Amino acid sequence: MTADPQGPAPPPDPPEAGKARAAPEAASPRETARESAQTFPERWTAMLRRHGTSLHPTKVTALGARTAAMICEGRPASAATTLVGAHFTDPDLLVEAVGLLRRAPSSQTGDPAGAFAAAWAIALRERTLRQQETIRTAADVARREAEQALHASEARFRALFEHAAVGIGVGSVEGEILAANRSLLEMFGARLEDLRGRAVTELVHPEDTPEIWQAYEDLIGGKRESFQCDKPYYRQDGEVVWTHLTVSLIRDEDGTPRYQVAMLEDITDRYRLQERLHHQATHDPLTGLPNRAAFFERLEELFATAAPGAHFGLCYIDLDRFKIVNDSLGHATGDQLLVEVAGRLATALGPLGHTVARLGGDEFVVLLEHCDGEHDAVAAARTVLGALREPILIDGHKLAIGASVGVLERPVGTITPGAAVRAADLTLYRAKEAGGARWTLYDARTNAEAVSRYTVSVRMPMALDRGEFFLEYQPLCALTDGSLAAVEALVRWRHPLLGILQPDEFVPAAEETGLILPLGRWILSQACAQAADWQRRYGRLAPQVNVNITARQARNKGLVADIGRILADTNLEPGLLQLEITESTALGPRDESLRVLNALVDKGITLAVDDFGTGWSNLAYLRDLPLSGLKLSSSFIGEPSGEPVPDSDVAWRIIGGLADLSRSLGLTLTAEGVETRETAERLRALGCDWGQGWYFGRPVTPEQLEELFLANH
Ligand code: C2E
Ligand code: MG
Ligand code: MG
Repeated sequence: MTADPQGPAPPPDPPEAGKARAAPEAASPRETARESAQTFPERWTAMLRRHGTSLHPTKVTALGARTAAMICEGRPASAATTLVGAHFTDPDLLVEAVGLLRRAPSSQTGDPAGAFAAAWAIALRERTLRQQETIRTAADVARREAEQALHASEARFRALFEHAAVGIGVGSVEGEILAANRSLLEMFGARLEDLRGRAVTELVHPEDTPEIWQAYEDLIGGKRESFQCDKPYYRQDGEVVWTHLTVSLIRDEDGTPRYQVAMLEDITDRYRLQERLHHQATHDPLTGLPNRAAFFERLEELFATAAPGAHFGLCYIDLDRFKIVNDSLGHATGDQLLVEVAGRLATALGPLGHTVARLGGDEFVVLLEHCDGEHDAVAAARTVLGALREPILIDGHKLAIGASVGVLERPVGTITPGAAVRAADLTLYRAKEAGGARWTLYDARTNAEAVSRYTVSVRMPMALDRGEFFLEYQPLCALTDGSLAAVEALVRWRHPLLGILQPDEFVPAAEETGLILPLGRWILSQACAQAADWQRRYGRLAPQVNVNITARQARNKGLVADIGRILADTNLEPGLLQLEITESTALGPRDESLRVLNALVDKGITLAVDDFGTGWSNLAYLRDLPLSGLKLSSSFIGEPSGEPVPDSDVAWRIIGGLADLSRSLGLTLTAEGVETRETAERLRALGCDWGQGWYFGRPVTPEQLEELFLANH
């Protein structure tokens, strides 16, 4: 053993010392000469310095002086013991010390070198024994500490297990429950005895998914390390507790599965809340019936899971006189009525296994998930009507309500859920049209017609927002010289699926649904902006712009304000705007439209009657309305069908008569559908003012119309 190597680095040895250490016995003559000049303590200390590698030089000096003194006092054994005690244990040092002692002045008695060596050996052995003892004690302490630590960690784990807020259960891989903590017992309302020894697989619940138990099998089979799921359990008292479950596998050091540990968090409250929210989201708050969303969800599920060839049935129900009750007796009564109707429907149809849902307002639907044919669906519809036959008594009012039912019965794969509900709804409409209080069975052909009307009108509001409508302009030309007199704005719909739709394909639906009002406003502002633009750029030469308005628009009081605002916004001179109304508008219920039309003319706008001559015209309106023009229907002159009218001669004479009439009333007469030069020529000869038709130009974009206009001038 050498001096402690961890101590401070010793000062570099003098070169002589290095040599002396390398060959302590064979000292060179020079060295011996120098040594002989030194005293023994000096030589002794110098020797220690060469070996006292880690001690501070002053300490080595002191130690050298002390031990040299001991030797000089005849106590070499003490010197040896002291040196070993100070970690001078290098065998080379012993050899050197013995050499030095031998050469020392013989003032000493006995054999100091021998005594020194013997004491050194003893001291060294004792030191070694002491060190071994120290190591053994240290090992003992370490072991005891490790045991304590293990114990503490076990205790900590046990405390954790016992007092954890989550329920923890430990089971064998065979599935036997071995332990359960307090939380788990509380959660299950059970004692440890109730659980210990039972099989994990006994803890099934009807709402468990097959995946849960598959994951469990995989886990105990060592195929997976853990899994998580939400799982319900029966408590000891039979109540259900919902848990978030995490099961992990515990393996041996060699990897063999040994235990399963389940941690369960009680999520019953959260689950119930979730259920309540789901119920709220899927049920109508008023009647408690499944709502529209839930109904569609159910229908979609049925379509996704039904056996091939299975049939389903739908009864779409609308109450006949609900609106009257609501309007006359108030909403509270209306609500009570709906609740009563819902109750009757559920009572009558629920036991048959049919689903009753409320789609909104006074519309209900019955879904027959299993339907053996039309007769089944019709039977359900009869049950509906039967259930609502008896008047409903609310607040002393006896309300005979009645309903119309559209009945649909189809094989599941032949139709989508959305199309099925639409078809049932459209079928219902036929029951309504026929007077209500009846059911009507779905008919494919009638449905197809209605569907096209429906798809068009359903998409229309969106189409307006998405800018799918656009206007084309067709010239109206003076028959005398062919100059451009006016243009007619004609609306088109760029339908994303059906391509470009002509007004005949959607204006009637817009009129029926009322969408003509926003659409008409858009057409008017668009056409007026265009007219104003031309007015700015071409001044006096700018053409008048004709815009068609429907009967519904003409009856709408808002039209006057709308047009006033549009004129103000676009800064268009009112005289450049002409509205075309149909004869039916002119002849229809007069009061409101007459007021509206008069108010418009007061603003400086002009009016023309479109498609003149197609109705059984009672010409009285020519006297009552503030008109500026008549537009002769193209059917009148035989074009555009290309075929001459049966008695064309008579027709031409009538046109001539109308031209005279117009002139005498100061009206501009425009002939529509002019396709050839001959027709144009003949109309001019008869005294018509303007012509419109392919001969003069087809409906085109504003830019194309400008080209025509510029070519004209
Ligand atoms: P209308 O007002 O009598 O418009 C004239 C219709 O005859 C236009 O059909 C036009 O394209 C067509 N036409 C013009 N010249 C000829 C010709 O020489 N030969 C043939 N075969 N046809 C010709 P369009 O654009 O399909 O409009 C049809 C009807 O739809 C219009 O009849 C009008 O009643 C209505 N309509 C068109 N645009 C609008 C609008 O912006 N608002 C309203 N409310 N109705 C509109
Ligand atoms: Mg027109
Ligand atoms: Mg016309």
